[in-house]
Amino acid sequence: MALIVQKYGGTSVGNIERIQNVANKVAQFVDQGHQLVVVLSAMSGETNRLMAMANEIQTRPSKRELDVMLTTGEQVTIALLSMALQEKGYPAISYTGWQVPIRTDDSYTKARISEIDGDKIRYQLAEGKVVVVAGFQGISFEGDITTLGRGGSDTTAVALAAALNADECQIYTDVDGVYTTDPRVVPEAKRLDKITYDEMLELASLGAKVLQIRSVEFASKYNVPLRVLSSMQDGGGTLITSEEHFKDNEMEQPLISGIAFSRDEAKLMMLGVPDKPGVAYKIIGPISDANIDIDMIIQNQGVDGTTDFTFTVSRLDAPAALEMLQSSANKLGAREVLSDDTIVKISMVGVGMKSHAGIASTVFKTLADNNINIQMIGTTEIKISVVIEERYLETAVKALHQAFDLDK
Ligand code: ASP
Ligand code: MG
Repeated sequence: MALIVQKYGGTSVGNIERIQNVANKVAQFVDQGHQLVVVLSAMSGETNRLMAMANEIQTRPSKRELDVMLTTGEQVTIALLSMALQEKGYPAISYTGWQVPIRTDDSYTKARISEIDGDKIRYQLAEGKVVVVAGFQGISFEGDITTLGRGGSDTTAVALAAALNADECQIYTDVDGVYTTDPRVVPEAKRLDKITYDEMLELASLGAKVLQIRSVEFASKYNVPLRVLSSMQDGGGTLITSEEHFKDNEMEQPLISGIAFSRDEAKLMMLGVPDKPGVAYKIIGPISDANIDIDMIIQNQGVDGTTDFTFTVSRLDAPAALEMLQSSANKLGAREVLSDDTIVKISMVGVGMKSHAGIASTVFKTLADNNINIQMIGTTEIKISVVIEERYLETAVKALHQAFDLDK
Protein backbone atom coordinates (compact mmCIF):
# COMPACT_ATOMS: atom_id res chain seq x y z
CA MET A 1 0.00 0.00 0.00
CA ALA A 2 1.30 3.41 -0.90
CA LEU A 3 0.21 6.96 -0.21
CA ILE A 4 -0.12 8.69 -3.55
CA VAL A 5 -0.90 12.33 -4.28
CA GLN A 6 -2.39 12.76 -7.74
CA LYS A 7 -2.99 16.06 -9.48
CA TYR A 8 -5.32 16.45 -12.45
CA GLY A 9 -5.09 19.59 -14.58
CA GLY A 10 -7.87 21.70 -16.08
CA THR A 11 -8.26 19.68 -19.28
CA SER A 12 -8.60 16.45 -17.28
CA VAL A 13 -11.54 17.90 -15.33
CA GLY A 14 -12.89 20.07 -18.17
CA ASN A 15 -16.43 18.64 -18.12
CA ILE A 16 -18.63 16.17 -16.24
CA GLU A 17 -17.62 13.23 -18.41
CA ARG A 18 -13.95 13.88 -17.77
CA ILE A 19 -14.54 14.25 -14.05
CA GLN A 20 -16.22 10.81 -14.14
CA ASN A 21 -13.15 9.61 -15.96
CA VAL A 22 -10.89 10.92 -13.19
CA ALA A 23 -13.14 9.23 -10.62
CA ASN A 24 -12.65 5.92 -12.45
CA LYS A 25 -8.92 6.38 -12.49
CA VAL A 26 -8.78 7.24 -8.80
CA ALA A 27 -11.02 4.25 -8.03
CA GLN A 28 -8.55 1.91 -9.78
CA PHE A 29 -5.80 3.04 -7.44
CA VAL A 30 -8.03 2.64 -4.39
CA ASP A 31 -8.89 -0.88 -5.58
CA GLN A 32 -5.17 -1.65 -5.67
CA GLY A 33 -5.09 -0.79 -1.97
CA HIS A 34 -3.49 2.67 -2.15
CA GLN A 35 -4.38 5.76 -0.14
CA LEU A 36 -5.22 8.67 -2.41
CA VAL A 37 -5.05 12.44 -2.06
CA VAL A 38 -6.29 14.11 -5.23
CA VAL A 39 -5.47 17.73 -6.10
CA LEU A 40 -7.51 19.41 -8.83
CA SER A 41 -7.31 22.46 -11.05
CA ALA A 42 -10.35 24.42 -12.13
CA MET A 43 -12.07 23.30 -15.35
CA SER A 44 -9.97 24.37 -18.33
CA GLY A 45 -10.71 27.96 -19.29
CA GLU A 46 -12.41 28.76 -15.99
CA THR A 47 -9.57 30.75 -14.41
CA ASN A 48 -9.25 32.79 -17.61
CA ARG A 49 -13.01 33.36 -17.73
CA LEU A 50 -13.00 34.70 -14.17
CA MET A 51 -9.97 36.91 -14.89
CA ALA A 52 -11.73 38.42 -17.91
CA MET A 53 -14.69 39.45 -15.77
CA ALA A 54 -12.44 41.14 -13.25
CA ASN A 55 -10.64 42.96 -16.05
CA GLU A 56 -13.95 44.34 -17.29
CA ILE A 57 -14.52 46.03 -13.95
CA GLN A 58 -11.06 47.19 -12.91
CA THR A 59 -8.14 47.88 -15.23
CA ARG A 60 -5.83 46.64 -12.50
CA PRO A 61 -8.04 44.31 -10.47
CA SER A 62 -7.50 44.26 -6.72
CA LYS A 63 -5.26 41.30 -6.02
CA ARG A 64 -6.98 40.37 -2.81
CA GLU A 65 -10.37 40.24 -4.54
CA LEU A 66 -8.90 38.36 -7.49
CA ASP A 67 -7.82 35.60 -5.14
CA VAL A 68 -11.25 35.45 -3.49
CA MET A 69 -12.74 34.99 -6.95
CA LEU A 70 -10.14 32.77 -8.68
CA THR A 71 -10.26 30.12 -5.97
CA THR A 72 -13.89 29.36 -6.79
CA GLY A 73 -12.89 27.44 -9.93
CA GLU A 74 -11.13 24.74 -7.94
CA GLN A 75 -13.86 24.72 -5.30
CA VAL A 76 -16.31 23.55 -7.97
CA THR A 77 -14.19 20.70 -9.37
CA ILE A 78 -13.22 19.21 -5.97
CA ALA A 79 -16.86 18.99 -4.88
CA LEU A 80 -17.88 17.43 -8.20
CA LEU A 81 -15.13 14.81 -8.04
CA SER A 82 -16.03 13.91 -4.46
CA MET A 83 -19.64 13.44 -5.55
CA ALA A 84 -18.57 11.31 -8.51
CA LEU A 85 -16.47 9.09 -6.24
CA GLN A 86 -19.23 8.79 -3.64
CA GLU A 87 -21.66 7.87 -6.40
CA LYS A 88 -19.36 5.01 -7.40
CA GLY A 89 -19.28 3.79 -3.83
CA TYR A 90 -15.91 5.26 -2.85
CA PRO A 91 -16.04 7.44 0.29
CA ALA A 92 -14.53 10.84 -0.51
CA ILE A 93 -14.30 14.29 1.02
CA SER A 94 -13.23 17.60 -0.49
CA TYR A 95 -11.25 20.40 1.16
CA THR A 96 -10.49 23.89 -0.03
CA GLY A 97 -7.05 25.31 0.71
CA TRP A 98 -8.23 27.14 3.81
CA GLN A 99 -10.03 24.08 5.16
CA VAL A 100 -6.84 21.98 5.16
CA PRO A 101 -5.34 24.59 5.98
CA ILE A 102 -2.54 25.35 3.54
CA ARG A 103 -0.86 28.39 5.08
CA THR A 104 0.80 30.92 2.79
CA ASP A 105 2.33 34.36 3.01
CA ASP A 106 0.07 37.26 2.03
CA SER A 107 1.37 38.05 -1.47
CA TYR A 108 -1.96 37.74 -3.24
CA THR A 109 -1.90 36.10 -6.71
CA LYS A 110 1.59 34.70 -6.13
CA ALA A 111 1.65 33.50 -2.55
CA ARG A 112 4.20 31.04 -1.23
CA ILE A 113 3.26 28.07 0.91
CA SER A 114 4.77 28.30 4.38
CA GLU A 115 3.09 25.45 6.25
CA ILE A 116 0.60 22.66 5.73
CA ASP A 117 -1.36 21.06 8.52
CA GLY A 118 -1.80 17.47 7.39
CA ASP A 119 -3.82 16.24 10.40
CA LYS A 120 -7.28 16.48 8.86
CA ILE A 121 -6.15 14.76 5.68
CA ARG A 122 -4.36 11.99 7.57
CA TYR A 123 -7.45 11.44 9.70
CA GLN A 124 -9.73 11.13 6.66
CA LEU A 125 -7.29 8.80 4.89
CA ALA A 126 -7.24 6.57 7.97
CA GLU A 127 -11.05 6.56 7.81
CA GLY A 128 -10.71 5.06 4.34
CA LYS A 129 -11.62 8.17 2.37
CA VAL A 130 -10.19 9.66 -0.77
CA VAL A 131 -9.27 13.24 0.08
CA VAL A 132 -9.81 15.76 -2.72
CA VAL A 133 -7.99 19.06 -2.26
CA ALA A 134 -8.36 22.30 -4.22
CA GLY A 135 -5.14 23.20 -5.99
CA PHE A 136 -3.62 26.67 -6.40
CA GLN A 137 -4.96 28.12 -3.14
CA GLY A 138 -4.20 28.71 0.50
CA ILE A 139 -4.85 31.02 3.40
CA SER A 140 -2.62 33.74 4.79
CA PHE A 141 -1.84 33.96 8.50
CA GLU A 142 -4.28 36.89 8.67
CA GLY A 143 -7.01 34.59 7.34
CA ASP A 144 -7.20 35.89 3.77
CA ILE A 145 -7.64 33.64 0.75
CA THR A 146 -4.55 33.50 -1.47
CA THR A 147 -3.51 31.88 -4.76
CA LEU A 148 -0.14 30.48 -5.74
CA GLY A 149 0.26 31.87 -9.26
CA ARG A 150 -0.92 30.43 -12.58
CA GLY A 151 -0.35 26.71 -12.82
CA GLY A 152 -0.08 26.62 -9.03
CA SER A 153 -1.97 23.36 -8.56
CA ASP A 154 1.22 21.48 -9.43
CA THR A 155 2.88 23.15 -6.47
CA THR A 156 -0.07 22.36 -4.17
CA ALA A 157 0.25 18.69 -5.09
CA VAL A 158 3.99 18.55 -4.47
CA ALA A 159 3.69 20.48 -1.21
CA LEU A 160 0.99 18.11 0.03
CA ALA A 161 3.08 15.11 -0.97
CA ALA A 162 5.99 16.56 1.01
CA ALA A 163 3.84 17.38 4.05
CA LEU A 164 2.21 13.94 4.08
CA ASN A 165 5.45 12.14 3.25
CA ALA A 166 3.72 10.52 0.28
CA ASP A 167 5.41 7.78 -1.72
CA GLU A 168 4.87 9.57 -5.02
CA CYS A 169 3.31 12.69 -6.48
CA GLN A 170 1.69 12.05 -9.85
CA ILE A 171 0.85 14.96 -12.13
CA TYR A 172 -1.75 13.98 -14.74
CA THR A 173 -1.80 16.29 -17.71
CA ASP A 174 -2.45 16.31 -21.45
CA VAL A 175 1.04 15.11 -22.40
CA ASP A 176 2.29 11.65 -21.45
CA GLY A 177 5.62 12.76 -20.03
CA VAL A 178 8.76 14.78 -20.59
CA TYR A 179 10.37 14.35 -24.00
CA THR A 180 13.97 14.43 -25.23
CA THR A 181 12.95 17.53 -27.18
CA ASP A 182 9.79 19.13 -28.59
CA PRO A 183 8.13 16.41 -30.74
CA ARG A 184 6.70 19.14 -32.98
CA VAL A 185 10.25 19.90 -34.11
CA VAL A 186 11.69 16.39 -33.94
CA PRO A 187 9.00 13.73 -34.47
CA GLU A 188 11.51 11.06 -33.34
CA ALA A 189 11.68 12.63 -29.85
CA LYS A 190 11.31 10.00 -27.14
CA ARG A 191 9.58 10.07 -23.81
CA LEU A 192 12.07 9.94 -20.95
CA ASP A 193 11.43 7.29 -18.29
CA LYS A 194 13.45 9.16 -15.69
CA ILE A 195 15.07 12.53 -15.29
CA THR A 196 16.70 14.32 -12.35
CA TYR A 197 15.23 17.40 -10.67
CA ASP A 198 18.15 19.50 -11.88
CA GLU A 199 17.69 18.40 -15.47
CA MET A 200 13.96 19.07 -15.28
CA LEU A 201 14.58 22.55 -13.89
CA GLU A 202 16.92 23.30 -16.80
CA LEU A 203 14.48 21.90 -19.33
CA ALA A 204 11.46 23.61 -17.77
CA SER A 205 13.06 27.02 -17.67
CA LEU A 206 14.08 26.57 -21.29
CA GLY A 207 10.57 26.13 -22.54
CA ALA A 208 9.53 22.51 -21.99
CA LYS A 209 6.48 23.81 -20.16
CA VAL A 210 5.14 20.64 -18.63
CA LEU A 211 5.18 21.62 -14.97
CA GLN A 212 5.14 24.81 -12.98
CA ILE A 213 8.84 25.35 -12.25
CA ARG A 214 8.18 26.07 -8.60
CA SER A 215 6.69 22.62 -8.15
CA VAL A 216 9.93 21.03 -9.36
CA GLU A 217 11.99 23.24 -7.02
CA PHE A 218 9.73 22.18 -4.20
CA ALA A 219 9.98 18.49 -5.13
CA SER A 220 13.75 18.76 -5.27
CA LYS A 221 13.98 20.52 -1.92
CA TYR A 222 11.86 17.92 -0.14
CA ASN A 223 12.94 14.98 -2.29
CA VAL A 224 9.40 14.14 -3.47
CA PRO A 225 9.38 11.62 -6.35
CA LEU A 226 7.38 13.39 -9.04
CA ARG A 227 5.80 11.65 -12.03
CA VAL A 228 4.27 13.34 -15.07
CA LEU A 229 1.71 11.26 -16.96
CA SER A 230 -1.26 11.53 -19.27
CA SER A 231 -4.77 11.36 -17.87
CA MET A 232 -6.09 10.21 -21.25
CA GLN A 233 -3.72 7.39 -22.18
CA ASP A 234 -1.96 4.67 -20.19
CA GLY A 235 1.79 4.64 -19.68
CA GLY A 236 4.44 5.08 -17.04
CA GLY A 237 5.07 8.74 -17.78
CA THR A 238 8.33 10.38 -16.69
CA LEU A 239 9.67 10.06 -13.16
CA ILE A 240 11.50 13.14 -11.88
CA THR A 241 13.71 12.24 -8.98
CA SER A 242 17.08 12.78 -7.30
CA GLU A 243 20.37 11.73 -8.83
CA GLU A 244 20.83 8.89 -6.34
CA HIS A 245 18.12 6.95 -8.11
CA PHE A 246 20.31 6.82 -11.17
CA LYS A 247 23.46 5.51 -9.55
CA ASP A 248 22.61 1.79 -9.83
CA ASN A 249 22.57 1.79 -13.60
CA GLU A 250 24.98 4.57 -14.31
CA MET A 251 26.20 2.73 -17.39
CA GLU A 252 22.86 3.32 -19.00
CA GLN A 253 22.77 6.98 -18.05
CA PRO A 254 22.76 8.92 -21.32
CA LEU A 255 25.19 11.80 -21.72
CA ILE A 256 22.43 14.15 -22.72
CA SER A 257 18.88 13.75 -21.44
CA GLY A 258 17.18 16.40 -23.47
CA ILE A 259 17.55 19.34 -25.82
CA ALA A 260 15.59 22.47 -25.02
CA PHE A 261 15.35 25.59 -27.10
CA SER A 262 13.98 29.06 -26.77
CA ARG A 263 12.96 31.49 -29.48
CA ASP A 264 12.34 34.12 -26.86
CA GLU A 265 15.85 35.54 -27.08
CA ALA A 266 17.52 38.73 -28.25
CA LYS A 267 21.20 39.56 -28.38
CA LEU A 268 22.57 42.98 -27.48
CA MET A 269 26.12 44.13 -28.17
CA MET A 270 28.25 47.07 -27.18
CA LEU A 271 31.34 47.33 -29.34
CA GLY A 272 34.54 49.22 -28.63
CA VAL A 273 33.98 49.76 -24.91
CA PRO A 274 36.96 51.06 -22.93
CA ASP A 275 38.55 48.05 -21.20
CA LYS A 276 38.78 49.17 -17.59
CA PRO A 277 37.36 48.28 -14.17
CA GLY A 278 33.68 48.98 -13.59
CA VAL A 279 32.57 48.87 -17.21
CA ALA A 280 30.62 45.59 -16.96
CA TYR A 281 28.78 46.97 -13.96
CA LYS A 282 27.98 50.25 -15.76
CA ILE A 283 26.53 48.29 -18.69
CA ILE A 284 24.58 45.64 -16.80
CA GLY A 285 23.69 47.59 -13.64
CA PRO A 286 20.92 49.81 -15.08
CA ILE A 287 19.41 46.88 -16.98
CA SER A 288 19.11 44.63 -13.98
CA ASP A 289 17.89 47.57 -11.89
CA ALA A 290 15.02 47.75 -14.39
CA ASN A 291 14.25 44.12 -13.50
CA ILE A 292 15.26 42.79 -16.89
CA ASP A 293 16.71 39.28 -16.68
CA ILE A 294 20.05 38.88 -18.39
CA ASP A 295 20.91 35.39 -19.53
CA MET A 296 24.22 34.74 -21.31
CA ILE A 297 27.04 37.28 -21.07
CA ILE A 298 30.25 37.40 -23.05
CA GLN A 299 33.06 39.90 -22.73
CA ASN A 300 36.08 39.54 -24.95
CA GLN A 301 39.66 39.95 -23.87
CA GLY A 302 40.50 43.60 -24.50
CA VAL A 303 42.61 44.59 -27.51
CA ASP A 304 43.94 48.16 -27.98
CA GLY A 305 42.36 49.18 -24.69
CA THR A 306 38.82 48.39 -25.84
CA THR A 307 36.59 45.36 -25.69
CA ASP A 308 33.20 44.06 -26.93
CA PHE A 309 30.38 43.19 -24.58
CA THR A 310 27.52 40.88 -25.63
CA PHE A 311 24.55 39.52 -23.69
CA THR A 312 21.07 38.12 -24.20
CA VAL A 313 17.68 39.13 -22.78
CA SER A 314 14.15 37.99 -23.58
CA ARG A 315 12.77 39.44 -26.84
CA LEU A 316 10.08 41.31 -24.99
CA ASP A 317 12.69 43.18 -22.94
CA ALA A 318 15.03 43.88 -25.85
CA PRO A 319 13.72 47.35 -26.87
CA ALA A 320 13.92 48.68 -23.31
CA ALA A 321 17.36 47.13 -22.77
CA LEU A 322 18.61 48.59 -26.05
CA GLU A 323 17.54 52.07 -25.02
CA MET A 324 19.43 51.77 -21.73
CA LEU A 325 22.43 50.36 -23.53
CA GLN A 326 22.51 53.30 -25.91
CA SER A 327 22.55 55.77 -23.08
CA SER A 328 25.35 53.95 -21.23
CA ALA A 329 27.30 53.63 -24.50
CA ASN A 330 27.26 57.43 -24.83
CA LYS A 331 28.47 57.83 -21.27
CA LEU A 332 31.21 55.21 -21.66
CA GLY A 333 32.29 56.43 -25.09
CA ALA A 334 31.67 53.06 -26.74
CA ARG A 335 31.87 52.80 -30.53
CA GLU A 336 28.59 51.15 -31.36
CA VAL A 337 25.49 49.41 -29.99
CA LEU A 338 23.72 46.61 -31.86
CA SER A 339 20.74 44.40 -31.21
CA ASP A 340 19.57 41.24 -32.95
CA ASP A 341 16.35 39.41 -32.18
CA THR A 342 16.60 36.79 -34.93
CA ILE A 343 18.48 34.41 -32.68
CA VAL A 344 17.58 31.31 -30.68
CA LYS A 345 19.18 29.49 -27.80
CA ILE A 346 19.58 25.72 -27.88
CA SER A 347 20.59 23.86 -24.73
CA MET A 348 21.80 20.32 -24.28
CA VAL A 349 20.96 19.17 -20.72
CA GLY A 350 22.22 16.10 -18.93
CA VAL A 351 23.75 15.09 -15.58
CA GLY A 352 25.87 12.62 -17.59
CA MET A 353 27.94 15.65 -18.63
CA LYS A 354 29.44 15.91 -15.16
CA SER A 355 31.53 12.80 -15.70
CA HIS A 356 32.14 12.94 -19.43
CA ALA A 357 34.29 15.18 -21.56
CA GLY A 358 33.78 15.81 -25.23
CA ILE A 359 30.12 16.84 -25.18
CA ALA A 360 30.97 20.36 -26.28
CA SER A 361 33.06 19.15 -29.18
CA THR A 362 30.20 16.92 -30.38
CA VAL A 363 27.89 19.95 -30.28
CA PHE A 364 30.36 22.10 -32.21
CA LYS A 365 31.13 19.41 -34.78
CA THR A 366 27.43 18.75 -35.41
CA LEU A 367 26.74 22.42 -36.00
CA ALA A 368 29.86 22.79 -38.15
CA ASP A 369 28.83 19.81 -40.30
CA ASN A 370 25.57 21.63 -40.93
CA ASN A 371 27.32 24.89 -41.67
CA ILE A 372 25.64 26.65 -38.75
CA ASN A 373 27.53 29.47 -37.11
CA ILE A 374 27.68 29.61 -33.31
CA GLN A 375 27.33 33.15 -31.99
CA MET A 376 27.55 32.53 -28.25
CA ILE A 377 28.35 29.60 -25.99
CA GLY A 378 27.49 29.12 -22.34
CA THR A 379 27.94 26.17 -20.00
CA THR A 380 27.00 24.97 -16.54
CA GLU A 381 27.77 21.66 -14.87
CA ILE A 382 24.86 19.95 -16.62
CA LYS A 383 24.15 22.20 -19.61
CA ILE A 384 25.71 23.54 -22.79
CA SER A 385 23.87 26.34 -24.53
CA VAL A 386 24.57 27.84 -27.93
CA VAL A 387 23.06 30.87 -29.58
CA ILE A 388 22.53 30.56 -33.34
CA GLU A 389 20.53 32.26 -36.08
CA GLU A 390 16.82 31.56 -35.73
CA ARG A 391 16.39 30.15 -39.24
CA TYR A 392 18.64 27.20 -38.39
CA LEU A 393 16.74 26.19 -35.28
CA GLU A 394 15.01 23.09 -36.68
CA THR A 395 18.06 21.84 -38.58
CA ALA A 396 20.23 22.26 -35.52
CA VAL A 397 17.88 20.61 -33.04
CA LYS A 398 17.26 17.67 -35.40
CA ALA A 399 20.98 17.17 -36.02
CA LEU A 400 21.92 17.44 -32.34
CA HIS A 401 19.11 15.11 -31.32
CA GLN A 402 20.54 12.54 -33.72
CA ALA A 403 24.18 13.20 -32.81
CA PHE A 404 23.46 12.35 -29.17
CA ASP A 405 21.42 9.25 -30.09
CA LEU A 406 18.34 10.64 -28.39
CA ASP A 407 16.17 8.99 -31.03
CA LYS A 408 17.43 5.51 -30.09
N1 ASP B 1 -6.51 27.10 -12.24
C1 ASP B 1 -5.24 27.70 -12.08
C2 ASP B 1 -4.69 28.17 -13.43
O1 ASP B 1 -5.35 28.04 -14.44
C3 ASP B 1 -4.26 26.83 -11.38
C4 ASP B 1 -3.88 25.58 -12.11
O2 ASP B 1 -4.56 25.14 -13.02
O3 ASP B 1 -2.86 24.98 -11.77
O4 ASP B 1 -3.61 28.70 -13.51
MG1 MG C 1 -1.33 23.29 -15.50
